Amino acid sequence: MLQPDTYKDKGARKLLVQELKEKGITDEKVLYAIANVPRHQFIHKDFRHHAYLDKAFPIGEGQTISQPYTVAYQTQLLQVEPNNKVLEIGTGSGYQAAILIEMGANLFSIERQEKLYLKTKKLFIELGYKANLLLGDGSIGCESEAPFDRIIVTAGAPKMPNSLIQQLAIGGIMIIPVGDNNKQTMHILIKKTDGTLENIALDEFRFVPLIGTQAW
Ligand code: SAM
Repeated sequence: MLQPDTYKDKGARKLLVQELKEKGITDEKVLYAIANVPRHQFIHKDFRHHAYLDKAFPIGEGQTISQPYTVAYQTQLLQVEPNNKVLEIGTGSGYQAAILIEMGANLFSIERQEKLYLKTKKLFIELGYKANLLLGDGSIGCESEAPFDRIIVTAGAPKMPNSLIQQLAIGGIMIIPVGDNNKQTMHILIKKTDGTLENIALDEFRFVPLIGTQAW
């Protein structure tokens, strides 16, 4: 059941936006989405007081809702345009997915844990978010819907899955954390008009692992 979205929640979101600005997030469209998405709906109601802290939080099944800074950082790098076909790997709580929908993405999101998939599917109906939520191994992508203008991976990958690179459109951007279980480096992969790839390595993060047939 949905929780009320109170003035206190809205105020807490404003403060979170301010905190993310201070940490270096500059994209107004990303900040607007953070201000609009009620993160407390994506966390168990008994812990709603954690919702607007800039922290990751457990969502069950050994998984986490990402830290708001990480969500904002990845989304800013993704440069989503309205109606972009976007593939997210690791739906989890659905929070990152909701941010992408707020930004106008035509979203496909894959989760491998059935309980999380079903929970987020129900939540999206309640919140009125429209997305194609899929259950399965996201490391192999979604061949039938490719190519994607944008791909975002929200679990730590041991390497860049080839299937995802192939499913990226010409001119497309993929954001993916790559590394071992302890730390990963955020990569931007751009597929240029001549089909060649530009790979830029940025800051270090720590995600739960991407588990799948194409993930190693
Ligand atoms: N984007 C999520 C959110 O906003 O809550 C955070 C996701 S959590 C850090 C990473 C998620 O990736 C987990 O829910 C995990 O089950 C999922 N995952 C790991 N390997 C996967 C795979 N091969 N395919 C799909 N989902 C996967």
